[in-house]
Order: sequence, then C-alpha cells, then structure tokens
Amino acid sequence: MTETTIFQKIIDGEIPCEKLHEDDFCIAFNDISAQAPIHYLVIPKKPIVSLCECAEKDADLLGHLLFVGSKIAKSKNLNNWRTVINTGKESGQTVFHLHIHFLAGRKMTWPPG
Ligand code: AMP
Repeated sequence: MTETTIFQKIIDGEIPCEKLHEDDFCIAFNDISAQAPIHYLVIPKKPIVSLCECAEKDADLLGHLLFVGSKIAKSKNLNNWRTVINTGKESGQTVFHLHIHFLAGRKMTWPPG
C-alpha cells in the first residue's frame, strides 16, 4: 500500500496550510519552507505522483494548475516569477504528489542547483 502523502493530508483537511486558492481541481498554498519571499505550491486534487505519471487525459488539468498559479502571481502584482516542477527523486522531488512551485520576490540564478 502506498503511504498517504503530506499533500493528500492537506487536500483531505487533515493538516492545515496557508491556503491561497481552492477549486474543484486544485489547491494552492504557501510552501512551509519558503525558498524566496514568495513561494507557493499548486497541487491537483487528483493523486498524481509526478509529471512522469501524467496521462494525455490530464493535459487540461496541467494547464489549469499553471493558469491558477499565474493568476495568484498576478493578484500579487508580480510579473517575474519562477515555476519549478521537480520530477523524481534525483530532480529534488521530496513529496510524491504532483506540485508546481511558484517562487518570486528575489533575483533568481541560472542554472539552478
Ligand atoms: P519538492 O521538493 O519539489 O517535492 O517540494 C516539496 C515542497 O513541499 C517543499 O518545498 C516543502 O517545503 C513543501 N512542503 C512540505 N510539507 C509541507 C506542508 N505541510 N505545507 C506546505 N509545504 C510543504
């Protein structure tokens, strides 16, 4: 049996989060360990492990996640931000429920570490 992820517990309301948005398909909330002055996550309610496990039928959902995250950024008057999706352990993924990071409020460097 696969273990319930921390994000599933947030979706189920079992643990609290600083919620920025919720609709039928996703939730957005502040990252608990912010790596920039603004750092939030957008996650689907559907339990998808990572981008690697997405199917073609998830394409609209993926677009929705990006759109919602961008809408939040614009509501914060941002026009510069970085989006990150870590896919797999070696990429830095630590929570195995798909999520998009939105980071802003400081100068970003490239390449990322
Ligand atoms: P990743 O390393 O891409 O899997 O990102 C997982 C992110 O989830 C990290 O940035 C964590 O700080 C964040 N995180 C873990 N637990 C929580 C939580 N309870 N509430 C908000 N963010 C969390």
